[in-house]
Amino acid sequence: MAKKDYYEILGISRNATEVEIKKAYRKIALKYHPDRNPGDKVAEEKFKEAAEAYGVLSDPEKRARYDRYGHAGLEGGAGGFSGGMTMEDIFEHFSDIFGDFGGSPFEQFFGGSTRRRRPRGQRGANLRVKVKLTLEEIAKGTTKRIKVRKQVACEECGGSGAKDSSSVQVCTTCRGAGQVRQIRQTFLGQMATTTTCPTCHGSGRVVVANCPSCKGEGRVMGEETIDIEIPAGVEEGMQLSLSGKGNAGVRGGAPGDLLITVEEVAHEHLQRDGMNVIYELYLNFADAALGTSVEVPTLDGKVKIKVPAGTQAGKIFRLKGKGLPSVQSYGRGDQLIHVNIWTPKKLNDKERALLEQMRAMPHFQPSPGKSEKSFFEKMKDYFKGE
Ligand SMILES: [Zn+2]
Ligand SMILES: [Zn+2]
Repeated sequence: MAKKDYYEILGISRNATEVEIKKAYRKIALKYHPDRNPGDKVAEEKFKEAAEAYGVLSDPEKRARYDRYGHAGLEGGAGGFSGGMTMEDIFEHFSDIFGDFGGSPFEQFFGGSTRRRRPRGQRGANLRVKVKLTLEEIAKGTTKRIKVRKQVACEECGGSGAKDSSSVQVCTTCRGAGQVRQIRQTFLGQMATTTTCPTCHGSGRVVVANCPSCKGEGRVMGEETIDIEIPAGVEEGMQLSLSGKGNAGVRGGAPGDLLITVEEVAHEHLQRDGMNVIYELYLNFADAALGTSVEVPTLDGKVKIKVPAGTQAGKIFRLKGKGLPSVQSYGRGDQLIHVNIWTPKKLNDKERALLEQMRAMPHFQPSPGKSEKSFFEKMKDYFKGE
């Protein structure tokens, strides 16, 4: 599940300039372009991977977040955890890169008729959901299947919003080009400018009769079941995103993203503290004095631990590696077992008599030595990881 480093994917150093990033991406995109590697799944993956890396590193804000927090720092867009970008997204997002090749021998790959860049309808809105996770699920990572109510592409018209194929016509204003050329008189003479066609908003097509099912919007309310991959180690309030899994766009516009907020379900026995989990162990006074072995719950089942004779209240036992993984680095936290000594709150006559006898006995008198660390020292050890 570990994601590859974006700098590694593009084969550049961490302090690469914007120009270097663009150059590196262009090289890889050309090499693995689907038109040059038809049916090659590996090439397609590499192409997508590079696009995702470029999407992040070419955006100064996203790059800064990635540098600081790694993959976990990226909440939206190209930095989503899975789902990733579709080929169409890639061509749409990075048209500046692919557009640069016009007129060159690469035109067949990047311009051409097979992938005409055609601006579509309005993008769909993002969708927000909350996902409740137990500590056990967070420890291992999991896949959550959720059902969301959202706007989906209209099946009747395939999202076009048109009644039938004859009701989509070539725009007469731009004759299907999506752009119009205007000649303006300026003091420098005639100047030609090209702008998006005002009639069809760049699609080159107009709908003359609306689909009755969606009233021309190209989308309707519906439901979708989505599997969300949750990486191990996530925390309360963390946001994951699945790009393209939000509401469908208007008339074939790009869909919004699905934003997932993590909610932690309180554990019956364990408390989370970052990567560590804490367990409050209550021992009776006799067990603490005589020593015993007890079963404690952990995130993967019960574990038996030995409590040595003479264990003091406040002692912390550590189960190495029984905590939680980090979402952005290697390693795992520990389980800390905090010892509490239970003092009886009620006593019957027999118990009272026994305690009265013990009260004055020599070994029952407190005599803390060097090995009894103060609360302050224990906290220091705890943070040192001792
Ligand atoms: Zn037009
Ligand atoms: Zn429709």
